[in-house]
Amino acid sequence: MAVADEDDHWTWTAPGAQAVFTTREGGVSPAPLDSLNVGLHVGDDPANVLANRTHAAALLGLDPSHVAGVTQVHGADVWLDLARTDELPREVRWDGGRSSVDADALVTTRAEVALAVGIADCMPIAIVWGPAIAAIHAGWRSLEGGVIEATLAVLRRAAGNAVATDTPHAVIGPALGACCMEVGDDVAARFDAPVVVRRDGAPRPFLDTRADALRRLEAAGCVVEHVDVCTKDDPRCFSHRGDSGLGGRQAMLVRRA
Ligand SMILES: [Zn+2]
Repeated sequence: MAVADEDDHWTWTAPGAQAVFTTREGGVSPAPLDSLNVGLHVGDDPANVLANRTHAAALLGLDPSHVAGVTQVHGADVWLDLARTDELPREVRWDGGRSSVDADALVTTRAEVALAVGIADCMPIAIVWGPAIAAIHAGWRSLEGGVIEATLAVLRRAAGNAVATDTPHAVIGPALGACCMEVGDDVAARFDAPVVVRRDGAPRPFLDTRADALRRLEAAGCVVEHVDVCTKDDPRCFSHRGDSGLGGRQAMLVRRA
């Protein structure tokens, strides 16, 4: 298991899976979405988005028609890939329009497809457990709503007998760090003390969502690695806060290997 910095993206390899985390570099979109924006809902030309998604999918040796993505809504619903043919359902295909499926996690056992989430500050998380893989888009609302636990429950069923013998491996990708995630007291009150960081002189608390996700994953027995990058601080990344809400989305893609 290992994380590697490939300059304009990161890769994660684990027993049975590989994932990539793109940055804003290497795409075709103009400012302020420059340049590898994969989001369809941020005002970009869909042709640019498709070109950027093609570039991202190729990092895992795939075409975007073999990548599944959903419309992320900061909830805890999990989309499970039940397809039995070579084709992905049209409503989740990454080369189609905006998905009609609302969810914040995806699970598949198929080797010929990848799962994708779009990210600007929320956490991308990939998990492999035996023959099953998952991709999660985890902001604080989804964490609190139990998206990690819901995904692990679907993964456990999808993995079948492998659950008895295989250790789940996970990676948490680039996300807004506790260094920058200032929140209101109302949000902080939803999380336990170790996740809420108070700094001398700062009137408001900060939230360590990475620590919260790590705790939840480790509670389920996951071995966890990190791309320990703050999206607001690293100029290679899109950041919802850093771009004043006007920037694009980078991607995490995961597939079986
Ligand atoms: Zn930061």
